[in-house]
Amino acid sequence: MTLDRRHFLTAAGAGVATLAAGCATPNAANRPGLPFFIGSPAQTLLPKGKAPRVVVCGGGWGGLTTAKYLRQLAPGAEVVLLERNPVFFSCPISNKWLVDMVDTSFITHDYLRVSERHGYRFIQAEVLEVDRGAKRVVTSLGALDYDYLVLAPGIRYNYEAWFGNDRRMADATRARFPAAYVSNAEHFALKQALHNFKGGDWVMTLPPPPQRCPPSPYERACMVAWYFKKNNIKGKVTILDHKDGVRPIGPGFRAAFNELYKDYITYVPNAHVQSIDPFKKEIKTDAGDMKFDHAVLMAPHQAGDLAWKADTIGRTSEGKPNGWADVDPLMLHLKGDPSVYVIGDAVGVVSPQFAFYPKSAHVANKHGHIVAGYIAERVAGRDPKLTLPDNLCYMMVNGEPREAISVQFDYKVNDKGVIEQTQIDVNQRSGDLVKENFRWAGLKFEDMFG
Ligand SMILES: Cc1cc2nc3c(=O)[nH]c(=O)nc-3n(C[C@H](O)[C@H](O)[C@H](O)COP(=O)(O)OP(=O)(O)OC[C@H]3O[C@@H](n4cnc5c(N)ncnc54)[C@H](O)[C@@H]3O)c2cc1C
Repeated sequence: MTLDRRHFLTAAGAGVATLAAGCATPNAANRPGLPFFIGSPAQTLLPKGKAPRVVVCGGGWGGLTTAKYLRQLAPGAEVVLLERNPVFFSCPISNKWLVDMVDTSFITHDYLRVSERHGYRFIQAEVLEVDRGAKRVVTSLGALDYDYLVLAPGIRYNYEAWFGNDRRMADATRARFPAAYVSNAEHFALKQALHNFKGGDWVMTLPPPPQRCPPSPYERACMVAWYFKKNNIKGKVTILDHKDGVRPIGPGFRAAFNELYKDYITYVPNAHVQSIDPFKKEIKTDAGDMKFDHAVLMAPHQAGDLAWKADTIGRTSEGKPNGWADVDPLMLHLKGDPSVYVIGDAVGVVSPQFAFYPKSAHVANKHGHIVAGYIAERVAGRDPKLTLPDNLCYMMVNGEPREAISVQFDYKVNDKGVIEQTQIDVNQRSGDLVKENFRWAGLKFEDMFG
């Protein structure tokens, strides 16, 4: 049975109203005999005091940075970080982790001790609803009010584009052939699949733009091919790309495919997915059909579910949801709601020239700094000064010797108030870029956790 969207929203709205009513008396909905900290959505999670409160939803690259720097820049504000995962797992560097170049400990980090050190509250909870009218967030452990809200939910997989409302097909695809593009157990499942792979066809479907970290699927293909080569596994990697060519850093990746992995990687452009059968292991695309032994099936990306629940999603000219948060391009708050900021991958179009910022950890981290600064200025009663991010991504293409390529983006506002982008691709692979990549990761981890 499927539930249409209108009925779902009505039901969800009624749910929020009930929850909000339940919040009036702290812990009124606590069932007698239950330990206090088990919590429920109808409880008050944290009573609000006099200090301005900033609630940050999502403890990934953007949210963690915001929480830490807000405490430094606005010491009088109360900062609460809500995150559903118990541990931070970094997607950057994870392609190297898949092939055992780094340990799990390098890319996982603790939340609790870090939050205590930096003076913000970390609460591990699922954010269920955002009532922007009441300025209240409802979580699995209770509800809390905010003065400023920062949403940093990352992305969701749009399996509906492939399977409509058929949850069985979507669940089977995610369970058997995970994309591992959102931090959770999927990365471990993918690593296990690679390490158990005995040979045959390994297929990767690449989503249409805009997508999280566009060069990283090509890096992943190179790392998988390198792993096959190194371990004498008779495997072939087929990249089914929605795009008409490799980008960014196209010449650098194509050189790696041709010079390092001629017998291992086949690149297919314009491979728009028509249908996928995870049970029969079959894919039909505009560029041809394939059977596979294992696949990394990346459905199209959209802003994380929380951006939808908070009603932040923009509209197409036909009035349909466009999948991404509708923010003021310069100040990053929602159009029409200056108390709510959206940062990182969930952000929608910011410029007619290049449309979206690259959906990267580098940009999310920069957004965290920028929005912490904007809110601190507003808390102090001043007008925030415009700041723009930059972007830098390193992509490893060879394991022996270790070599990487890179791409950099810079931004400025032109005299019409439009953000302009400059892109610099470094296509020549080198060992120095690998060193810079690990230095970059170390500095960013230090910035969020140090
Ligand atoms: C394989 C791979 C390689 C990559 N390599 C690079 C790279 O080299 N360089 C680079 O700059 N970028 C890279 N990226 C991209 C990078 O990981 C993302 O752009 C970055 O994580 C975006 O940060 P974010 O804060 O927007 O989202 P995230 O980091 O995904 O954080 C979102 C957080 O919100 C939490 N959340 C969501 N909904 C809820 C809810 N309802 N309740 C509670 N918590 C919730 C999630 O659990 C998550 O922790 C790579 C990505 C992948 C997949």
